[in-house]
Amino acid sequence: MPELPEVETIRAQIEKKTPLTILKAEYSTFHNSILKPKSKHFDPVGATISDIKRKGKLLIFLCDDDKYFLSHLGMSGSWRISNNKITEKHTHIQFETIGKNNKRIFLGYVDPRRFGNLYFYHEEEALTFMDGLGIDIGTDEFTGEYVHSVFKKYPNKMVKAFLLDQKYFAGCGNYIASEICARAGIRPTRRTGKITKKEAQLISEVTNIVLDQSIESNGMTFSGGYSDTEGKVGEGVKNLVVFYQKVCGLCNKTPVKKIILKTRGTYYCPFCQK
Ligand SMILES: [Zn+2]
Repeated sequence: MPELPEVETIRAQIEKKTPLTILKAEYSTFHNSILKPKSKHFDPVGATISDIKRKGKLLIFLCDDDKYFLSHLGMSGSWRISNNKITEKHTHIQFETIGKNNKRIFLGYVDPRRFGNLYFYHEEEALTFMDGLGIDIGTDEFTGEYVHSVFKKYPNKMVKAFLLDQKYFAGCGNYIASEICARAGIRPTRRTGKITKKEAQLISEVTNIVLDQSIESNGMTFSGGYSDTEGKVGEGVKNLVVFYQKVCGLCNKTPVKKIILKTRGTYYCPFCQK
C-alpha cells in the first residue's frame, strides 16, 4: 500500500510537470468506484492544475477556479505521466493535458484493485476533507511533545496500531509504523500510556529517519505493489530493519517475530524492542 514516501515520490514527479491544463478526460468502465462524489462531480476539462501538495497519504491537486482534485491511492493506486496516451491495463482516469512549452502530457490514474478514490471538490469541501487528517508525520509539527500528548489522551491503545490512525498520524502506514517502533526500541504492543516523554521524542526523531531513507529511495515496493509515475518500483526495501525481514537489521542477530495486530502484519525484534 502506498504510504507517505511513495505518495511523496509521485507528488514530486507530477509537480515538475505543472502547470497542466486539462483538454480531455477519459474514464474506464469501472471508474465509478474511484470517482467521488458520484452525483455532483464537476467536469475537470478546462481546469489547470497549478500545483500539487500532499497531506498524509492524500495527494492534493490545486487547480484554478477553486477546484481541487484529492487523490487517495488506496491499496494499489498510482499516477502515470507519459508523452503518449497511456494504454496500461487498469488506467481508470486519464487526463490529456497541455503543459509547459505547449507540450502534450498524459496523466493517468492506474489502480488494479480499485480501492483508491479521486474526489473532485470545490475549495470548501476540499478543506473540510483535509481537516479530517491529523498532523502529517513528515512535518515539523510531528514532535515528541505532540506524540506524548496524543498518547496521554488515549493511554490504552497499542502503540503500533494507534500510529496507523490517520486522524492523528497522517501518512503513517503499516510498514512505517513497524519500522518506527523498531528504531525507537518499543514493542508494537506496548500501551500508549506507558510511553515516556523521552520515548515519544525518540518516536518523532526516528520517524524522520524512516521517511527520509524511504523517500530517497523513491519509496517502497513489496511483491508487485507500488510503482511511480514512470512505472518504476521503489528501492527503499533495503533500508527496512524489521518489516518483511528474517533477522533484525539493528542487532543483526535476532530473528524477527511476526504477529497480527488489529488484522495487520506486524514485525518486531524481541531483543531490541522492549
Ligand atoms: Zn534486534
